[in-house]
Amino acid sequence: MSPTDTPVPPVPANAGPPLVVAVDGTSGSGKSSTSRGVAQRLGLAYLDTGAQFRAITWWMLRRGVDVHDAAAVAGLAAEPRLVSGTDPSAPTIHVDGEDVSAPIRTPEVNSAVSPVSAVPEVRTRLLELQRAIVFETLAAGRGIVVEGRDIGSVVWPDAPVKVYLSADPAARASRRSREEGGTDVAATEQSLLARDAIDSGRATAPLVLADGAVAIDTTPYTLEEVVAQVVALARAVEAPA
Ligand code: C5P
Repeated sequence: MSPTDTPVPPVPANAGPPLVVAVDGTSGSGKSSTSRGVAQRLGLAYLDTGAQFRAITWWMLRRGVDVHDAAAVAGLAAEPRLVSGTDPSAPTIHVDGEDVSAPIRTPEVNSAVSPVSAVPEVRTRLLELQRAIVFETLAAGRGIVVEGRDIGSVVWPDAPVKVYLSADPAARASRRSREEGGTDVAATEQSLLARDAIDSGRATAPLVLADGAVAIDTTPYTLEEVVAQVVALARAVEAPA
């Protein structure tokens, strides 16, 4: 068969540039489930930047680094090799070839991740990686949902869809404690609030409501309802009325 015989699928009439959906918000507000749900509904890739910060933190702890010693963390920030898998139905995270999806979710990492994430050298390192992943995904013709704390403000400020998710602390704690297999709800709430305080108060790329972001308080909604709200925002951007 000559190349001219190859059937070429038609370009859809409303095909626009691949989409970036930035999902930021507080710990336990439902960002991951929402982001994965939106990516699956829209056929987009999914990047969990929190998993990257957790992975670098896990590596520091395993090395015996004092995570409150910013100079020590900064000096080693370039060392671990991180690879993020962006399939929303099975996201992965590897450090130096090791699958760390489970160990990055321990209480030890929960309490160490915010101090590590406040170190500018860690943020610069991961910012480069995050932008490269978004860029490569778009270059391959696919859109992506990126979740974190600074996606709409720093990582991809031009994202056409930006949302900021929050929820009542008690609701966040009971959700998270269920996800973690029934951990103590009061202790979980303290841990979430402690992380929020550091994430919002740090000097570099703090958690903020980015310019142009739509704020959604997820407390009264089911996951499916929040996914539907974000999907509707994305569809409105793809096919403006
Ligand atoms: O999203 P997740 O709760 O897994 O994030 C863990 C931590 O990683 C956050 O509490 C925050 O300290 C850090 N983080 C960040 N910037 C991002 C994503 C996560 O500082 N874009």
